[in-house]
Amino acid sequence: MKKEQYSFSDDEVKPYFNIDSVLINGIFYAANKVYGLSFKERKDLPTYHPDMKVFDVIDNNGKQLALFYCDYFRRPSKRGGAWMSAFAKQSRLRQQIPIIYNVCNYAKAPEGQPTLLTWDEVSTMFHEFGHALHGMLSNCNYNTLSGTAVARDFVEMPSQFNESFASIPEVFNHFAKHYKTNQPMPADLCDKMLNSINFQAAYAMGENLGATCVDMAWHMLDSKNIPTAEEAKNFETKALKEVGLLDNQIPPRYSTSYFNHVWGGGYAAGYYSYLWSEVLAVNIADYFEKNGALTRKVGNDFRNKVLSRGNTKDLMEIFSDFTGLKAPDASGLLKARGL
Ligand SMILES: [Zn+2]
Repeated sequence: MKKEQYSFSDDEVKPYFNIDSVLINGIFYAANKVYGLSFKERKDLPTYHPDMKVFDVIDNNGKQLALFYCDYFRRPSKRGGAWMSAFAKQSRLRQQIPIIYNVCNYAKAPEGQPTLLTWDEVSTMFHEFGHALHGMLSNCNYNTLSGTAVARDFVEMPSQFNESFASIPEVFNHFAKHYKTNQPMPADLCDKMLNSINFQAAYAMGENLGATCVDMAWHMLDSKNIPTAEEAKNFETKALKEVGLLDNQIPPRYSTSYFNHVWGGGYAAGYYSYLWSEVLAVNIADYFEKNGALTRKVGNDFRNKVLSRGNTKDLMEIFSDFTGLKAPDASGLLKARGL
């Protein structure tokens, strides 16, 4: 259907997304424009795998701000998915600079050939780097409160917000070049790709909200009223019906019996946090767009009021300090998703 409606397939754009160019000419380029950071590869530091790269992250005053490690390629021994974490968290008290890493699971091209990504994979790289920036731009006394040590319904904001830079034309045209000819992506192909992002947007929103409500319903039960395993399906149906999300065409993304996130993954009553963080991220991207998306002025402001703060201030106040909004505006999310 996607191919039929948008005459676009993911493979068409891959030659334009060379992983090295995405990192250097896209992710690092945007971080330089917005926060004044520069990146210098270090070959002298040890890594746990030869595929990894390490970069000195230099602040706009010329001083070292952080170390950034990336480990992007799939290996048989590696856990699936993509994530950010820290070898060392920033702490003023300990005079510790942040040592941050990103991990992804991209299929590595054979020796001598460039690794080419899909648009989804490009977005994931920007996403994980948004978490990395949250860790690297932290400026807190205590490592326990620094960087990404924030509530779960806030932590996906810097990462989802950083994804927005991937499609800003100045950034996109800087990294999306054909790996053989170095030519920029033709405008009509780029348009087709960006238009296709909102393919089945209503379905995606419906299944997400369904799973969110099922998660919440389970965690709002008191201990005397827990359904048995046999009653679980009925409980779920009732919960969806109560909020108007019972629809055979749009089942919840995860059903109770395999909703791993909410039982063991630390997302108990927190599955909503992705959507909620996306509301925050869209509001922040909006502010950037209106006030100069690739300007240091707005970037510094975001860094000082939001990214540097870790968990040292009420998170809603942090949001309001930067955006000037009293509360997040959910209509921005619907607009961003083309609904
Ligand atoms: Zn994330």
